Amino acid sequence: MCGALRASDAGKKAVLMGWVNRRRDLGTLIFVDIRDRSGITQVVFSEELNAAIHAKAELLRNEYVIAVTGAVKLRDTDTINKNIPTGEVELVVDELRILNDAKHPPFLPSDTSLANEEMRLKYRYIDLRRDAMQFNIELRHKVALAIRDNLAAQGFFEIETPFMTRSTPEGARDYLVPSRVQPGSFYALPQSPQLFKQILMISGFDKYFQIVRCFRDEDLRADRQPEFTQVDLEMSYPQPERVWEVVEGFLTAAFRAAGHAIKTPFPRMDYDEVIRQFGIDKPDLRLPAFSEVRDCFTAQDLETLAVHPELPVVAIRTPKVGELSRKERDDIKPLFNSKGGAKLFEDFKRLEKNFPDATKKILERIAAAPNDLIVLVSGSAQSGGQDHPASKRKVTPQELAIYASAGLLRVALGQKYAAKHGLFRRGDFRFLWGTNFPMFEYDEQEKGWMAAHHPFTSPHEEDMDKLESDPAMVRALAYDVVLNGTELGSGSIRIHRQDIQRKIFHALGMTEEEARSRFGFFLEALEYGTPPHGGIALGLDRIVMILAGADSLREVIPFPKTAAAKDLMVDAPTPVTDLQLRELGIQVKKK
Ligand code: ASP
Repeated sequence: MCGALRASDAGKKAVLMGWVNRRRDLGTLIFVDIRDRSGITQVVFSEELNAAIHAKAELLRNEYVIAVTGAVKLRDTDTINKNIPTGEVELVVDELRILNDAKHPPFLPSDTSLANEEMRLKYRYIDLRRDAMQFNIELRHKVALAIRDNLAAQGFFEIETPFMTRSTPEGARDYLVPSRVQPGSFYALPQSPQLFKQILMISGFDKYFQIVRCFRDEDLRADRQPEFTQVDLEMSYPQPERVWEVVEGFLTAAFRAAGHAIKTPFPRMDYDEVIRQFGIDKPDLRLPAFSEVRDCFTAQDLETLAVHPELPVVAIRTPKVGELSRKERDDIKPLFNSKGGAKLFEDFKRLEKNFPDATKKILERIAAAPNDLIVLVSGSAQSGGQDHPASKRKVTPQELAIYASAGLLRVALGQKYAAKHGLFRRGDFRFLWGTNFPMFEYDEQEKGWMAAHHPFTSPHEEDMDKLESDPAMVRALAYDVVLNGTELGSGSIRIHRQDIQRKIFHALGMTEEEARSRFGFFLEALEYGTPPHGGIALGLDRIVMILAGADSLREVIPFPKTAAAKDLMVDAPTPVTDLQLRELGIQVKKK
């Protein structure tokens, strides 16, 4: 192992195999750093000690694969390299074998500046040799192993589910696999194992998990991959709290494997409260929550400011930003994306001048320090008014628009001034369980209700009677686990009764016919003695990304795809031969 030698090995014989990471030719002495996944050791070829081997070492180039044998020697004090664990020793080589030569690669694993990402993905095998990637992939292994061990110890069985299956509704397009033996028929790759894991509960396996690939064909944003890995689990008879406990257990183990202690139980918050405090359902708890400050203003103040008197006025505090110039204040405006007529006040100084009483009260309410940046977001005098099917909710759609505008701005300010407030410290992990989401979302275009989660999510027992009469007010027994502003996973207690599952399909505008043709097998399975059950799925890639401190999923997936869903190394997807198409009974339209 190239990274294992220490001072205590001095005098011993050692054999090392690995890549030539770097070669320095000083004439009579040639130094080579030999590298494998465990690290690097300096090996020395001395002309004086062994002229033949020294001559052979002159042939070595970067990324040649070699085997060397020699004696471990302590380095002179002035040549000790404190930056690597093997820095106190070197290997004086008495035998060298060149196991393979190497073309000069397009970039070197030892390069300090990174090649462009296209290059890195095309030559992924070189890129993966880099320290940082070796670290990330090892971390991924350790995290997955810790999760497996933990779930197995909690009594879960890892059970595989098919990749060639039918469509599961998780809200994306399916990747389809044509059937050769049944031309015109297609399998869908699973967007998640949702229905299989529920059927495993019906099959008596009470606690299931799987670290499993899922496939979703969607327009890719920076942090999505067409195939990604979930830690998927399901259990029989749980309350939500039981699922949370299981997840907190395996996350504790996963974070411990990466060297971090986390505190459980995680805080829990209802959807309405999350929206009122943070404006978005995956809040970053490292930044201060909003404060509601409308009552700090008089009715007259609000009128003068053309602020809606009944909609929320929230203060966003970003600590330690310091005094902003006019230009810097202007730079805040483009970060504000106004929904539903929401209005921004970015110049608190000016408000202080014109509304001294109100601003004094605000400063007290939010316990602001003199250096904090304070901006306000409110409804404008004209906003609101129109009737909306969800307007009886605790947070009305008009209020939601203001909270949401403020929520996005809060995050954008947090990012913009990260260096100043210093709240994004590495290793500061703030988890949250968000729960009690609305069951349905109103689709303005379709003028109908859509499932906010997948349609197997159970409504709250006490909201069942509102399914048809008042869908807006039905809450889902669903939950999300959020970490530092990222949704790590979501799950729910499921519907376990066939009559209710039918009702939900109906409430979602599915005809009996449609429901039967898409989910007939599942509706039938529900009739054969289905225990109450629930579960969750968390994104493994995302967990590892956060633990690695990486800023893209591609840094923690060995062979990821680009934003255009391409694998640049194997060059996929590609057209296929006419013969293959003919066998599948498929004709491709020429564009
Ligand atoms: N199948 C869901 C998803 O992939 C998770 C769950 O409800 O367990 O998001």
